[in-house]
Amino acid sequence: MSTQKKDIRALTKEQLRAFFVKQGDKAFRGDQVYEWLWQKSAHKFEDMTNISLATRTMLENHFVINHIKVDTLQRSSDGTVKNAVRLHDGLIVESVLIPTKSRTTACVSSQVGCSLDCKFCATARLKRMRNLNPDEIYDQVVAIDKESRLYFNRPLSNIVFMGMGEPLMNYNNVIKAIDKITSPEGLAMSPKRIVVSTSGVPKMIKKMADDGVRFKLAVSLHSAIDEVRTSIMPFNATFPLSDLREALEYWYKKTKNRITYEYVVWDGINDKKKDVEALIQFCKFAPSKVNLIEYNPIDDGEFQQASSEAIDMYTSMLEANNITVTVRRSRGKDIDAACGQLANKT
Ligand code: SAH
Repeated sequence: MSTQKKDIRALTKEQLRAFFVKQGDKAFRGDQVYEWLWQKSAHKFEDMTNISLATRTMLENHFVINHIKVDTLQRSSDGTVKNAVRLHDGLIVESVLIPTKSRTTACVSSQVGCSLDCKFCATARLKRMRNLNPDEIYDQVVAIDKESRLYFNRPLSNIVFMGMGEPLMNYNNVIKAIDKITSPEGLAMSPKRIVVSTSGVPKMIKKMADDGVRFKLAVSLHSAIDEVRTSIMPFNATFPLSDLREALEYWYKKTKNRITYEYVVWDGINDKKKDVEALIQFCKFAPSKVNLIEYNPIDDGEFQQASSEAIDMYTSMLEANNITVTVRRSRGKDIDAACGQLANKT
């Protein structure tokens, strides 16, 4: 049974080489198997055609490959594809492929469920079951890359960690997955095409800066007023805006990377002039971009998208303060694949 055997992809290349030496084989065999596991993303030992049958059987006896399985795939009328992905222990996460004219983006999950309790997000209702392993994150990207080639005749170009979960609460595994995604031994993608989105865990933002990561950072802000933010994102009571701001200043000083803020404007919650003013105050310390995201209703109507006048007010006030603004339309709404809609409904 798979529970006794070790997941072979938990081994580093060096450990795999050492394993083969211990088995009386050449270290080089480890390199070959490693290539099958990562670059070629083999699902089974029997796929490893340049490895002898005896060696494959030996591997079979020691290890499992806990590859994810795309359980159901849904296609939206706008081209968006949503995968419900089954993990080796039967749990399910979702990932999304978002095609545009110039890019195809994978939106991947980092946890099963989420421990944060954002009032407007469907994933929050699932509660956190567990962290994803690096290979489970990697596999989502590989699956979407394949679908991108199949449906759109081009490889995946970008990755956003905006699926289920809070990536900075599974930091080590997310970093390991990104290492593999960007490595020539994996998918060789540029870190500049990867965005990690966080609700804002100050300590981890500082750690990321110290670690010298090269991917981009997005912060789901939604309000720059503590009272308002705590009412919609309760963990803000633990990590208040002043701590977040301090961590972001640290991040900018170290990385010189522009910060992107994700921001939904809701009717009667954050649609007043004072809300925009607070946002400007919050982000003007560094070059910033604000993505005004369309709200994707998840519930009984407690939250409503703000009026277009409110959005226009945000846009013009931010632009007048030299803050880049984009207004983002949702994708894949008809299949519950849009931001905040991932809730394993299928
Ligand atoms: N926990 C991370 C990663 C999830 S990203 C984070 O918070 O950044 C998902 C993005 O979608 C976040 O910016 C989140 O605030 C936003 N979001 C959540 N629910 C939403 C909804 N119903 N409509 C639009 N955006 C939503």
